[in-house]
Amino acid sequence: MAIYLCHERPDLYVHEASVAQARPGAVALSRSAFHPGGGGQVSDIGTIEWTGGASNVTGIEVEGDVWWHLLADESATPSGDVELAVDADHRLRVASLHTASHILNAFVFGEFAGALVTGAQINGDGTGRMDFDLPEVDNDRVRALATPVNDVIARGIAVVAVYVDAAEATRTEGLVRSMSVAPPPTPDGTLRLIDIDGIDRQACGGTHLSNTGQSPPIVITKVENKGRHNRRVRFAFAP
Ligand SMILES: [Zn+2]
Repeated sequence: MAIYLCHERPDLYVHEASVAQARPGAVALSRSAFHPGGGGQVSDIGTIEWTGGASNVTGIEVEGDVWWHLLADESATPSGDVELAVDADHRLRVASLHTASHILNAFVFGEFAGALVTGAQINGDGTGRMDFDLPEVDNDRVRALATPVNDVIARGIAVVAVYVDAAEATRTEGLVRSMSVAPPPTPDGTLRLIDIDGIDRQACGGTHLSNTGQSPPIVITKVENKGRHNRRVRFAFAP
């Protein structure tokens, strides 16, 4: 399931499905528009309704090819046909911050001669962080990158997903900047790239906006030194 339903249909929030497997408090479905999370991005949350019951879905637990939708009602065991709904506000918050993280990554990569991402986390509460391999860098120079990031947000630049030949993509310098956030190649040998027109192009399996202008501006809340080589950059939506 390397091409997710949420990649094919990013505008699909509510749909029907049937229960494939169930255990108390968790259910796997015939199809799901939820993003399962990964590469530091939290999964989607939402709701599920079935005949005789309903519950919030608090997240996804991936077990091999099975996506367990975790239920707030830990005793529920849904069966049959269900209606699934993705929490649109949560999706938008995460997609906005995730898209902003690509823009930040592009400016760090450009400003500091190809600095790579060593970790990332995008939370559901409107905060995130990225770790960069940045020895010997003045933290004020990192903090200053919030300005060009917000310029790109304000300019309203298109964000599109494209699929390219995976073998060729891995030979292109700068395209796969972090193995931790890059998705595995799809079964047909293609790799999903997120292209922010003229700004950034990199392999990623997360959720993103379709235009940078859909994001609120961000602030860099903290730059921390994490060991000799790593800078942890914390960011959030501007208050
Ligand atoms: Zn991404």
